[in-house]
Amino acid sequence: MSRVVVQKYGGSSVADVARIRQVAARVVQTVRGGDQVVVAVSAMGNTTNELLALARSVSTNPGRRELDLLVSVGERVSMTLLAIAIEELGVPAASFTGSQAGIITDERHVAAQVIEVRPWRVRRALDEGRVAIVAGFQGVSRNGEVTTLGRGGTDTTAVVLAAALGATHCEICSDVDGIYSADPRVVSDAKRLDEIPLDAAVAMSRAGSKVLLADAVERARELGVQLMASATASPPGSGTALPPGPAPGRVVAVAADAQLVEVVVQKGGPAALASASGAVRAWWTESERLHALVDLRNLHGQADLSNHPGVSPPVPAAALTAVGRSAVSDPAVVQSCITALAPMGLVRWWASGAGWTGLVPRHVADAAQRALHAAVVGGG
Ligand code: ASP
Ligand code: MG
Repeated sequence: MSRVVVQKYGGSSVADVARIRQVAARVVQTVRGGDQVVVAVSAMGNTTNELLALARSVSTNPGRRELDLLVSVGERVSMTLLAIAIEELGVPAASFTGSQAGIITDERHVAAQVIEVRPWRVRRALDEGRVAIVAGFQGVSRNGEVTTLGRGGTDTTAVVLAAALGATHCEICSDVDGIYSADPRVVSDAKRLDEIPLDAAVAMSRAGSKVLLADAVERARELGVQLMASATASPPGSGTALPPGPAPGRVVAVAADAQLVEVVVQKGGPAALASASGAVRAWWTESERLHALVDLRNLHGQADLSNHPGVSPPVPAAALTAVGRSAVSDPAVVQSCITALAPMGLVRWWASGAGWTGLVPRHVADAAQRALHAAVVGGG
């Protein structure tokens, strides 16, 4: 029996017809290697943002049910074009919506959780010798409503499919060739990691590293899925492997999240923060007032914090995290982190789980990432 592998291709990997053809060729290469292939695909390029902008041009407050139906169209376009491109190369393929693929979710529109996968049709397609292409980021509730899984949700689609199908591994393909010790666009001597334990990868994703979606990596850990981060431009199977296991002792990477805002909540203001729940990365009290660090991307454009009475104007902030257990437990490493960021205007810092996190003003985010990487990961 041949192995089942799941491959996920992100939006930039299928941004135009030429790239869809390249992905088709890569999928066919995997099939010719003897594997049964299931593909989870994102919408082409910027499609999801464009669809959301269209809805907002009609209404400032579009209903979530309609938003889900609307944005689910993006992945239907890419999945069908990819299936057609694969057939064009002489390999049978069939595409499936989330609903057809049996991705069953709860009812929470725009941020649904997958509760079950019934991949009968996908399996049948594989048994018939087809490549199965599944629309990422979408599912169906028990009431038959189309739902979406939250931005970047195609990673989650890939992981839950891999678990349900008993895939040997799940390859997350993007335009970077794996996981680096820092963002290689910012830190020129960032190193590509051959391997990173899942717990460290979870910490990196939670801390803002954009290669893998944090929820999906956590899902992979729960479900025992063998993850791999690869470049669409590289041959199948190359990249960073993510074996199960705890974060290493030494600091292996620095992750940056430069899309945060810090707000101060006055008495009577917490309702606004409650509406931003899930988006609050950290909070603390200072002079009896609540400070919160909020992740703007998780607000789904629903809560505009700046318009809430009792909430101070948001201050742009960046959080830099050194991932590795010594950044939590070794006072010398903690001191190196503090020393590296102090000249950048370190606002506050904390250590938890698999890393040390420091908060700096957003405009120094890149310089701070370079300084922290040089101090605790280094060149050697
Ligand atoms: N197309 C969706 C998004 O842009 C899902 C994904 O890319 O994974 O968020
Ligand atoms: Mg996308």
